Amino acid sequence: MVKKLKKVELKRFEKLLIDERQKVLRELEYEGDQIARTQLETSGDLAAYSNHMADQGTETERREITSQLISTRRDTLFEIDHALRKITKGSYGFCERCGKLIPKRRLKFLPQARVCIKCSQATP
Ligand SMILES: [Zn+2]
Repeated sequence: MVKKLKKVELKRFEKLLIDERQKVLRELEYEGDQIARTQLETSGDLAAYSNHMADQGTETERREITSQLISTRRDTLFEIDHALRKITKGSYGFCERCGKLIPKRRLKFLPQARVCIKCSQATP
């Protein structure tokens, strides 16, 4: 018996990935707005407030956290796109390291997974 994902299963994962992609894009858009706003606030008319060092501190901190979030989401987006390309190429669902089929349980939890659990835990 050939071990691979059925067409319906592929479709289901493709949908999961597309949904996730949309979600990440929406979040990125929202966080991009947040960054733009804080930049506007600190550089615009409200610059007088920058005398409040404490406020500025939390503002900078918040912006850093948001930037961090954005870069994490960009990574996720990259992984999702990679997985979607694999679906088109027909290599989706296979571990990129050992070539075995990644258990569906793992794919449901992390549809953009590149490797199986064993390989993800193995030291590089
Ligand atoms: Zn593997």
